[in-house]
Amino acid sequence: MNARVYNFSPGPAVLPEVVLAELQRDLMCLPGVGASILEISHRSRAFENILHQAETNLRQLLGIPEDYTILFLQGGSRLQFSMVPMNLAGCKGRAATNHGAANYIISGSWGKYAYKEAVKECETAIAWDGAKTKYDRLPAAAEFALHPAAAYVHYTSNETIEGVQFPTEPVVGEVPLVCDASSDFLSRPVDIPKYGMIYACAQKNAGPSGVTVVILRKELLERSADSLPGYMNYKTHAENDSLWNTPPTFAIYVVSLITKWLITDIGGLAKMKAQNESKAKQLYDVIDVSQGFYTGHAQAACRSMMNVVFRLPSDELTSKFTSEAAKQALTELKGHRSVGGIRASIYNAMPVEGVEQLRDFMLEFQKSNAK
Ligand SMILES: *Cc1c(COP(=O)(O)O)cnc(C)c1O
Repeated sequence: MNARVYNFSPGPAVLPEVVLAELQRDLMCLPGVGASILEISHRSRAFENILHQAETNLRQLLGIPEDYTILFLQGGSRLQFSMVPMNLAGCKGRAATNHGAANYIISGSWGKYAYKEAVKECETAIAWDGAKTKYDRLPAAAEFALHPAAAYVHYTSNETIEGVQFPTEPVVGEVPLVCDASSDFLSRPVDIPKYGMIYACAQKNAGPSGVTVVILRKELLERSADSLPGYMNYKTHAENDSLWNTPPTFAIYVVSLITKWLITDIGGLAKMKAQNESKAKQLYDVIDVSQGFYTGHAQAACRSMMNVVFRLPSDELTSKFTSEAAKQALTELKGHRSVGGIRASIYNAMPVEGVEQLRDFMLEFQKSNAK
């Protein structure tokens, strides 16, 4: 296969074609540098400029104030599942001070994974868990059991597997709000001052695998105990501008290009959000008028703009759907094994035309297969 498909992969995921073209063009030789991004020192002026550009672009796009630090780390969001409690709560045997139990709002599989790692590190409490209804909904404010002296409240803004997304941040009062935004980072504007910390691995919406962006309110750095292993300590990375050890230089370079694309080609996150909403609506509308042929997993009020998760009447039809879609160059539509059905991941870089083709395919498929 030589032509590009419409790739609905949940991650690593589709990247903007203009960014891929720029990467290809400059791979042999970065303009003005005389060497590839893959060949230069992380301590070179050229890389420092790239790192600085990535940070500046993120600050501009998200309106990140100066009292927040931005870190570029490795280990994916999974490592953040451990680093968050190690640094921000009083971790077992390693506490700078005990900051109280870490509270978790569990709205899907990733929230559950995050919680499980935290249990190994600190005192925890579950503020809410949607397991009872298979993570198809979000809690109303009155349903949280928040501990007022909690170290922090952790939630997952978009549950990639179940396709459940918080329309806005949960209200948690004075307790620092920590967000795993891995799969909706940069998909819409967010109000950074509401957060103690946001983190996101890049490979869904912001770049390739290999780098995880952490945005952290600087005063929270005081919680990190000196006895933590160097890499696991946010203070280490903040004090060394993410250059304590060799950072994922190539991945950071791609983040700088993606963020530039969001600023110059898209026109900012409000515009990106409008595009994402209209893409998602195309698919949800098909589901809603399908008279039960397609059934969405998430309840309507918390449907994800990034991962559209739905089922067909039978397993046979589900496999027929994915194989016929693939013949039309619509790929990676199989749902996560824990949920089944179909998952169409339509991140920032999925072109509108790709979504329109999938919409048309869904309509056609229903016509030929509904009883
Ligand atoms: C993909 C994903 C992760 C895991 O990221 P890794 O980089 O594989 O560690 C965590 N949380 C959410 C919400 C995700 O979508």
